[in-house]
Amino acid sequence: MNTTLSTRANSINRALDEIGDKWCLLIIQEVFWGINTFSGMLEAIGASRGVLSNRLKWLQRVGCLRKALPTEGSRGGSYHLTRKSIDLYDSAMMAVEWERRYYRKPALDAVKLVHNRCGMAFSPRMQCQECRQSVDGRHVSYRAGPGATIDEREKKVRRRSSISVDDVPSERSVYRNLINIVGDRWTANLISLAFHGHHRFEAFHRELPVATNILSDRLRLLEQEGVFGSRAYQQRPRRFEYYLTEKGWDLFPYFVTLLQWGDKWCDGPGGGPPILLHHDSCDRPLRGDVVCSHCGEALKAYNVRITLN
Ligand SMILES: [Zn+2]
Ligand SMILES: [Zn+2]
Repeated sequence: MNTTLSTRANSINRALDEIGDKWCLLIIQEVFWGINTFSGMLEAIGASRGVLSNRLKWLQRVGCLRKALPTEGSRGGSYHLTRKSIDLYDSAMMAVEWERRYYRKPALDAVKLVHNRCGMAFSPRMQCQECRQSVDGRHVSYRAGPGATIDEREKKVRRRSSISVDDVPSERSVYRNLINIVGDRWTANLISLAFHGHHRFEAFHRELPVATNILSDRLRLLEQEGVFGSRAYQQRPRRFEYYLTEKGWDLFPYFVTLLQWGDKWCDGPGGGPPILLHHDSCDRPLRGDVVCSHCGEALKAYNVRITLN
């Protein structure tokens, strides 16, 4: 049986093939909060020991975690961020922002982000480095980059976990709904294809040739979650096309952070970015900076203080 599939090279897909699994995303989030022992993570994310150990090995293999050996008096060693995973900070910021916009939960409402540089509570915002306008996916177009090749990707996708995100025990898990949606590669790939202007089942299937029942299942999920809406474009037989809702478009900055991270850290054989973003508003190449909504300065992990209550 063929175990790989070919898709157009795309840094978002490359990033997601490395970290876009629900458990990996939950683990990275906990390590950002400073939870770095096996038992601490086990308690926080609610995975089985086998699953946790498998994902920790994987994250070390792709260079997103480094294991420090146990010191005297401690057991089991600890897991730490690397330069590569620290660079996911922008992505975590945009994830929190999106989650707060669309989901209400006392723990989430209590999260406060303070920018040490200006001393103010802020919301993270993505702006164009050139014109400093907020980034909106509807004003972005795409050009083929020097690495525009075809990627051979592992077909094996871990089944969508049946454990609900509401059952993740950790109160620190502040973007669990986003993780639930993007936490299997195909669902996230569909969102990314929608940003590129694809609407119809056949187009999605052409770009992402996985089993049609998987595609239908993921499209249904995206509709249930309010990320996609649908409308009939043909009556007999009845066929639907899918479009991004406002909630769906608002995921765009999060995906830009993944693309920029993938360009930097998940370089494929082609060399250079496969896709270049272009900001139509200012007619220049787009680089998205995640900035403080109060002072407009680009955020750095060490300049942000996060309180949970
Ligand atoms: Zn611009
Ligand atoms: Zn600020």
